[in-house]
Amino acid sequence: VKDQGRNGYSFFHSDMEESSLERILMENELRKAIELEQFHLDYQPKMDLSTGRLIGMEALVRWDHPELGRIAPNKFIPVAEDTGMIIPLGEWVLRRGCEQAIEWQQQGYSQLKLSVNLSVRQFYQPNLLDKIKEILKDTGLRPQWLELEVTESVFAVLDDAAAILQEMRDLGIHISVDDFGTGYSSFSYIKHLPIDTLKIDASFIRDIHQNKESQAIVKAILSIAQTLNLNVIAEGVETSEQLTILSEDGCSQGQGFLFSQPLSSQDFEQYLKNSFQF
Ligand code: C2E
Ligand code: CA
Ligand code: CA
Ligand code: CA
Repeated sequence: VKDQGRNGYSFFHSDMEESSLERILMENELRKAIELEQFHLDYQPKMDLSTGRLIGMEALVRWDHPELGRIAPNKFIPVAEDTGMIIPLGEWVLRRGCEQAIEWQQQGYSQLKLSVNLSVRQFYQPNLLDKIKEILKDTGLRPQWLELEVTESVFAVLDDAAAILQEMRDLGIHISVDDFGTGYSSFSYIKHLPIDTLKIDASFIRDIHQNKESQAIVKAILSIAQTLNLNVIAEGVETSEQLTILSEDGCSQGQGFLFSQPLSSQDFEQYLKNSFQF
């Protein structure tokens, strides 16, 4: 790089400086935010496509920085993962989500499953299982109402991921493979994995109505899921056109802006009141 001459070098250099500065700022702010609990959770409805019923909600972390405003998860989650801060943050998300789920159960919405995202990095924590058990015990949420969303990469980088997930499933927790189809998983090996649900990545749903390959991939996933007795959910469903194709192809669950954006807990509660009558 230095051989590229003065301009090339200084451009590269200042660019690097800027990004590492931004990175250091982000790390510091994130550390403070975790201490001060500057986060909250939004909840996005998950729907049964044949009945139109709400079946559960995915908790999605939100960070509203006092000066910088909202910072997107795609910006800060990777930093939290690299620094290990995802461990306290992930624990906070799980606890907060379980507390909220119990609150809604006590209001009578007793059949809703809470989905929480788990980063691969959290699996390196030796006491992950104990932490999860502790949170379930403290909050009183029964394990069958908790679903953990993990990406396929967990199986690629962690030798005992399957064993850990098996222990979670033995507790009664559901396991969903997030962003399915984008990672390295091959259809041949998912049959050995301790999983309940394949969550078809939004990229295949986005152009399903105009791209034959996307539709073929979705159909293949649905077919393998049926053979292996796995549940399937489509994420990123935005249009009724996409919904129609998914329903015709036999996809039983969906999530996306067509049904609802992720909602604050207050708005989700209002959504519950509008959706259910006792
Ligand atoms: P993800 O788990 O794949 O979550 C789905 C993302 O798609 C969410 O973005 C959601 O708001 C967005 N989304 C939902 N429906 C639609 C739709 O119809 N169209 C489009 N275009 N987008 C839709 P969000 O909340 O910004 O989160 C981004 C990613 O950050 C998540 O992707 C997940 O990987 C990560 N993340 C969010 N919350 C957590 C968390 O609590 N823990 C961990 N480990 N990761 C999280
Ligand atoms: Ca997810
Ligand atoms: Ca996803
Ligand atoms: Ca994603």
